[in-house]
Amino acid sequence: MILEGKVALVTGSTSGIGLAIARALAAEGAKLMLNGFGDPAEIAKLTEELGAVHDGADMSDSSAIERMMARCAEELGPPDVLVNNAGIQYVSPVESFPPEKWNAIIAINLSAAFHTIRLALPAMKKNGWGRIVNTASAHSLVASPNKAAYVAAKHGIAGLTKTVALEAARDGVTVNCISPGYVWTSLVENQIPDTMKARNMTREQVMNDVLLAAQPTKQFVTPEQIGALAVFLCRDDASAITGANISMDGGWTAQ
Ligand code: NAD
Repeated sequence: MILEGKVALVTGSTSGIGLAIARALAAEGAKLMLNGFGDPAEIAKLTEELGAVHDGADMSDSSAIERMMARCAEELGPPDVLVNNAGIQYVSPVESFPPEKWNAIIAINLSAAFHTIRLALPAMKKNGWGRIVNTASAHSLVASPNKAAYVAAKHGIAGLTKTVALEAARDGVTVNCISPGYVWTSLVENQIPDTMKARNMTREQVMNDVLLAAQPTKQFVTPEQIGALAVFLCRDDASAITGANISMDGGWTAQ
């Protein structure tokens, strides 16, 4: 177990990719702080299963993020592994994109990572060891129509990753992002109705002609595959990987 005695904080880890990453880190012995929304009874089950603490901080609220980071340091220790994963999506042509949706996506998918990183990095540098893994997206490298805020935020997180990697390069801290293609989670399922409306398509057409159209393997990526990559990035073998944007997208961005 490579993370015995280490503390890991995973934002947006009550479902989907974040939960799979949290499970993979816990299996390597990490003490976990979970974050995210959901049914309190389900969350209680998860904290028990993973021996974790949960903090429900809203990632669009910088004061709540500050409180969560302080609580993590106090109850578990400062995070040795920080996974910025919380994210939302909204699909609309740019002319009718609601400004409040733009602000929420930039806050949750991008600015939250700035706040957790600025608060977590000092202890990592002091300890001479740290791992920051950001869940970016194929949309950090390429665009799709009707996703202005998401694509902007994900390109932003790729830039933030590179910048912090350079700043922490001599401190034993690596900073990388993982860029999945389409992963079957609630985030993808929930955008099907809006994409049906925006493109005037059936559910099957959205699945095959929009989602998997981009993915040469014609298969969704699994959350567990992403969890395994996050664990690899925590290994000493991965200490030379920093500032990287690692695609796990079934060949999408090779096209
Ligand atoms: P998901 O909806 O299953 O999980 C999102 C998580 O973020 C949940 O735990 C949710 O409670 C949490 N969250 C949402 N808003 C929050 C807020 N304001 N404060 C705190 N937590 C909040 O979706 P997912 O697909 O697992 O997405 C996780 C990450 O993966 C996102 O950053 C997403 O952009 C990225 N991603 C997903 C896909 C995909 O195909 N599913 C592809 C590429 C990247």
